[in-house]
Amino acid sequence: MPVANYARYCEMLDRARRGRFAYPAINVTSMSTANAVLKGLAESRCDGIIQVSTGGGAFASGSAVKDMALGAISIAEHVHRVAERYPVYVALHTDHCQADTLKSFVLPLVEETERRRAAGRPNLFNGHMFDGSALPLNDNLDIAVPLLERFRKSDLILEIEAGVVGGEEDGIKASSAAKLYTTPEDTLEVARRLNAVTGARYLLAATFGNVHGVYKPGSVKLNPSILKDCQATVVRTFGEAARFDLVFHGGSGSDIRDIHEALDYGVVKMNVDTDMQYAFTRAIVDHCFKNYDGVLRTDGEVGNKKAYDPRSYLTLAEKAMAQRVTQAATELRTAGTTMMAGTPVDA
Ligand SMILES: [Zn+2]
Repeated sequence: MPVANYARYCEMLDRARRGRFAYPAINVTSMSTANAVLKGLAESRCDGIIQVSTGGGAFASGSAVKDMALGAISIAEHVHRVAERYPVYVALHTDHCQADTLKSFVLPLVEETERRRAAGRPNLFNGHMFDGSALPLNDNLDIAVPLLERFRKSDLILEIEAGVVGGEEDGIKASSAAKLYTTPEDTLEVARRLNAVTGARYLLAATFGNVHGVYKPGSVKLNPSILKDCQATVVRTFGEAARFDLVFHGGSGSDIRDIHEALDYGVVKMNVDTDMQYAFTRAIVDHCFKNYDGVLRTDGEVGNKKAYDPRSYLTLAEKAMAQRVTQAATELRTAGTTMMAGTPVDA
């Protein structure tokens, strides 16, 4: 199936909300990792989301170029082409982009979509995240509102963040004094400002103690009931239509009970990056340890071309990451829910 269009993606999100499941949103940095996500989604018969971060985009453009927008375009174009061969829908997103990076990442990508639409072609991405969580909420929303107005014209979905996801991702580390728990008052203000942009759609990353990365058990204290309180407050004030589509950041390493509780409160997208990185690398390390004399030319020997051909271990890595995607699909209750024609499941 091709990359989902706006109507299809909205339908995906609506079904997730109704069915209390969430789409795995997996960060990719290369063709191999993008292919791994598609393979994992197809094997789980579930639709999902492929994401590119600023660092992932820069990496994908090559170490001599380091152009985050260019690399993101390359990955998105690859996904548009190969997604046709998989029996599921996939949406394309970009991940955290702070205010001072909008100019070099999100805005060139939006311009690219605007150019494509003017030429009668589909969007490059379905959605982009603006992460203004380091700013006071008012400043965050002062940037988010005009972005959402612009996105509305091109059927783009905006993801914003209120509260701060702790830990480190893509080399950006949250301050230790950061506000790790969003408050109902914050989300009320988000709804008041963003719902005024009628006809647009946005996703909200509300934080409930989430942390990027994986830590030993006990060191991260998630409190999903914060999401319940935020939803109850916004629905009481603005009505049922204001209920948020929520995003769970820092999904790697989370306890399954916390994940399910968050799904029950309206999380429709869960970002998983660290656990995917580990699954991919674990397979490569395993290959290298088992084939030490093959991947290296030791003691005057010549090694084994089959073992050091990057395709050998990258294929293993792709399989391992795909398997981790199927695990995420199961944990997020998304397995078997694809909207592809002929799939009878309707949540
Ligand atoms: Zn995040």
